[in-house]
Amino acid sequence: VRTIGVLTSGGDAPAMNAATRAVVRVGLERGLNVKGIRKGYNGLLNEDIIDLTSRHTADSISRGGTILFTARCDEFKTPEGQKRGAEVCREQGIDGLVVIGGDGSFQGAQRLAELGINTIGIPGTIDLDIACTEYTIGFDTAVNTAMEAIDKIRDTSTSHERCSIVEVMGRGAGYIALWCGMATGAEDILIPESFDGNMPKLEQQIIEHLLRNRALGKTHHMIINAEGVGHSYGMAKRIEAATGIETRATILGHMQRGGSPTAKDRVYASMMGAYAVDLLCAGKSNRIVGYQNGKFMDIDMDEGLAMEKHVDDYQLQIAHLLGK
Ligand code: ADP
Repeated sequence: VRTIGVLTSGGDAPAMNAATRAVVRVGLERGLNVKGIRKGYNGLLNEDIIDLTSRHTADSISRGGTILFTARCDEFKTPEGQKRGAEVCREQGIDGLVVIGGDGSFQGAQRLAELGINTIGIPGTIDLDIACTEYTIGFDTAVNTAMEAIDKIRDTSTSHERCSIVEVMGRGAGYIALWCGMATGAEDILIPESFDGNMPKLEQQIIEHLLRNRALGKTHHMIINAEGVGHSYGMAKRIEAATGIETRATILGHMQRGGSPTAKDRVYASMMGAYAVDLLCAGKSNRIVGYQNGKFMDIDMDEGLAMEKHVDDYQLQIAHLLGK
């Protein structure tokens, strides 16, 4: 391996920069040339590629977002796009590629590996929804950002004796909601994994819980709702109509993707970036870097992507118990 490339793809996540920085610095230290591919697979197809030096990553470890930019690229989902991507890698002399992104981005990396380009995936997603790893870049920061916002909403909600619904990110996975819910002592936590699609039933349960708590003298009621359950504004209206208790919905949205990463995210992302380079140096391809049982590790990409992630039932049970 003489030259490696690095790109960030799909949804951005805080501390992607820490991973990029480690890829660059460890790559250079190992005697490799490092090329930055900007805007994900789009940049690969458009040859938006720059030579990276340590200078490019200076002052990046504390910055949110991704200095390489990110994008979605439909063309890369086609066999022609993928062939072209592999061709560009060969033309540019890139014989190893680090892809920082979610499972969609990993599927692109898998295709490139099949076409003979050594690729390593680093899990970069605030959603924590990659089954083969207990840690994904950005989750810790996103949870802390959302938690701080929820604490603030809770203050004003208590003053006005309101019920609050705060919608956090997580279309397919409720980890942000579960963690924020536990961390803020929420009364209800709604996640897609345990939602059967019956909204009237769910709302009825919340209404009964809210009325029970009011009867006990509780002055607020915080509901953390995952994006995958959604419908927060409608839910607020219906709860207010049914209970007479003022109910407000807040959708936190993209603020959860931004901000300066936590120490944990910076350190883990740095380790994963370094690990990915060392896998490429060892001639490995089609692997995902993960963190399991207290250790950084790697797993075959096909195997990793085939795994299914399940919310820890015990954690879910305790979260509900604590919010009772
Ligand atoms: P994430 O990586 O965060 O899951 P996406 O699912 O949007 O985000 O994927 C990011 C990009 O990865 C897509 O825009 C596309 O370029 C590429 N990609 C996603 N799925 C595939 C696939 N099945 N085959 C090839 N490339 C894919």
